[in-house]
Order: sequence, then C-alpha cells, then structure tokens
Amino acid sequence: MNYLSKKAAGIEPYAAGEQPKDKQYVKLNTNENPYPPSPKAEAAFRAFDFSALNLYPAPAADGLRAAIAAAEGVPPECVFCGNGSDEILALCLPAFFDADGEGAAFADVTYSFYPVFCDFFSVPKRIVPLEEDFTLDLSKLTAAPAQGVIVANPNAPTGIGIPLPAVEAFVRENASRVVILDEAYMPFFGQSAAQLTQKYENLLVVKTFSKGYSLAGIRCGYAVGGARLIGGLERCRDCFNSYPVDAVCQAVCAAAVADGEYYARMTALVVSERERLRGALQARGFCVLPSSANFLFARHPLAAGRAVYEALRARGVLVRHFRKPRIEEFCRITVGSREQNDALLAALDGFLPRG
Ligand SMILES: *Cc1c(COP(=O)(O)O)cnc(C)c1O
Repeated sequence: MNYLSKKAAGIEPYAAGEQPKDKQYVKLNTNENPYPPSPKAEAAFRAFDFSALNLYPAPAADGLRAAIAAAEGVPPECVFCGNGSDEILALCLPAFFDADGEGAAFADVTYSFYPVFCDFFSVPKRIVPLEEDFTLDLSKLTAAPAQGVIVANPNAPTGIGIPLPAVEAFVRENASRVVILDEAYMPFFGQSAAQLTQKYENLLVVKTFSKGYSLAGIRCGYAVGGARLIGGLERCRDCFNSYPVDAVCQAVCAAAVADGEYYARMTALVVSERERLRGALQARGFCVLPSSANFLFARHPLAAGRAVYEALRARGVLVRHFRKPRIEEFCRITVGSREQNDALLAALDGFLPRG
C-alpha cells in the first residue's frame, strides 16, 4: 500500500547542505558563522529556569519580540517570530498567495527553498532569470505577473547584494502586491530594509538568528512588517503550531539581539576574512562574484565545479556544489575563521592546476 498523499509522494523536498559525521571536516558548506554566539546569550541560557519548562512558552514570544523591536527600531506588533526563518518563509505562501492566483515571482538562481514552498502550497512559480553577470534586474521582477515577489538580499548562492535605494524604489513600484525580502545575510551587507516596513505596508522583511547571530543550532527567525502582513502570518501560524519558538530559544535570542556590540565585532571579522579569501582565490585563478554575504561563489576556468568540490572533500574540506543549470561550474564557499580559510587554501594548492 502507498499511504502517502499525492503531494507527499510527488514533492521534491529541499536538500540541505550535508552535515557528515564520518570524520572532522573543515565545514564551509552551510554558511554557518565560525564564531561562537554572544557570551550574553550563553549567560541567558545558563540562567534559564529549567523548572519553568512545564509551562508552554509565550505564543508570540513577547519578550523576544520586544528585544527585536528595540534593535530594529519598530513597534513590537510589527515583529513575528518563528522556528527559523525557513518556517516564516514557508508560512508566507499560504498567508499571501492563492493556489489559483498569479503566483510568486523570484529569480532562477536564488534560495532553492522558494520553489519547494511554492510546490508544497500549490502556488504557481514565476521564474525571472538573472542577468549574465548574476545580477537581478528588478524591473523584470516588477514586470512579472505575480501575486507577490520574493527576493533574497543579499542573494544566495551568488552573494550579490542590492543597495537599499534600489530596494526602496522596487517596493514602491510594487505597492499593489506583497514584497518579501529574505535578509538572511544582511548582517554582512548592512543595508536592511526593515525600517521601510513602517512606510510601505506591502513589505515584509525576513531575518534569521542562524547566520549573523551564530545561532543556527537554536532555530529562530523573525519577520518585520506592517500590521496587515504580520497578522496574516499569525493566522497561518495558528493553523500549524501556536508555539513555534520554545522558551529557551526566546531567552537566548533576546539576549543575543541585545548584544549588538559583540555581533558588530564578529561580523567585521567575517567581512575582513571574506575580502582576504576573495583575493586569495582570485590569485589562484578563480572568478569570484562580488559578495555582500558570508560566503563566496567562485568558479575556476581550469577545474569543473564538481571536481573542485570532490577534491576538497577528499582533503577534508566541505564546500557546497549545486547540480543546477547556470551554476554547476561554481562552488559556494562559506567564509570561515582565518584557520579554516587557510586550510581551504592549502587544500586547493594540493590539486589546482597552476596557471
Ligand atoms: C540560511 C538561510 C535562511 C535561514 O534559514 P533558517 O531557517 O533561519 O536557519 C533563509 N534564507 C536564506 C537565503 C538562507 O541562506
């Protein structure tokens, strides 16, 4: 017997980067932050009252919400917290898109969860190709017939960022439909549109604790938007799980978001390593896209993307390779600590053809 629904049997799920346990790898494949979370977040974890876990957490994560609102400079009711930003992006589909509507528009080369969410919620996909140089022509997205648009800024896996003035013009031109900005990598770019949600009610900005806040293991993300959009997310959340953010997570993330000074220092380290690594890859013949994120998207004219990935893996270094049209010659390399990046470069020197 096949007990699965047609949807469950037919869907192609998102494939996350591998997390192998067979040996110790230099792990540069899932864009995790190489530095530990804030010591204040750790202190909040240790101070957490274990005996209080008999109670359900605050459904809307009120304390965390207030801390995020203070950091973003928006009212608390403009913040929605979820179990990772992936969960929030998923909720966006039933909240803002109809199965018999015009669909969701996004780039051909972008976060590969978007088409999976569309398929799962039966929302039509309106795919807009990036330019030859992997930049996004926003006017093409504006011209695409769709109920709403999803843009990762900076984009993944390219790393390319769109400056804030262009984003604002785009949000204004798309006033009649929802604009979802996935700002997972914004800490490394520093041009967040979160404030614009107070001016444009069609804008939803989605952020995560996984990358900039070094908390991928705790699973927390949030959205910033006007009352209409936040209300839509709340309605859909309460059809799946009224308590998506557990009590420990709320306490830890609230302490993290209040420690902006620590994260500014860590982010500056990542950005300076990114620039050093970019130069070192270019010196080895790689073509590297300009990155505003915590990873580099690079291809070597004399070595195929898959071959680079496999040779690095054999040497104990994990990077991400996508078997996809347009990008199969590339590897996406997370910026690690100085030591991790040096290990990557040494591994490359072990097999790359010398030009
Ligand atoms: C990592 C990432 C996310 C965040 O996922 P979480 O569920 O918050 O860990 C969202 N969007 C993009 C483009 C990402 O790369």
